[in-house]
Amino acid sequence: MTIRQYLRYRGNRSALAAIVILLLTGAVMSPGPRSYVVRTIIGVLIAALVGAIFWGLFEIPCPNCRRSLGRIGFWVANGRMLDSSPRCPHCDMSVDQELPATKNT
Ligand SMILES: [Zn+2]
Repeated sequence: MTIRQYLRYRGNRSALAAIVILLLTGAVMSPGPRSYVVRTIIGVLIAALVGAIFWGLFEIPCPNCRRSLGRIGFWVANGRMLDSSPRCPHCDMSVDQELPATKNT
């Protein structure tokens, strides 16, 4: 497994989590009348939660040096940068190199 594949896995998992949250929100919000204020608060909280999930893609640690990959992690996780081989800004490890053998969670 390369670092790129690992990042894609993280990205797919985040997208899935966001979709599940949005579907659950729709299922919870649709039945029964609730006050406008409650709906607004829930909407803001869900938006913040989904935002936090995607923001987390900016914080994916480099599997080699454990420091945040920043926007490289974000774009690779979203399937961009396929035509290039971006490197970790801290340790200069290419995303197309194999993951270090330590662990892959
Ligand atoms: Zn690194």
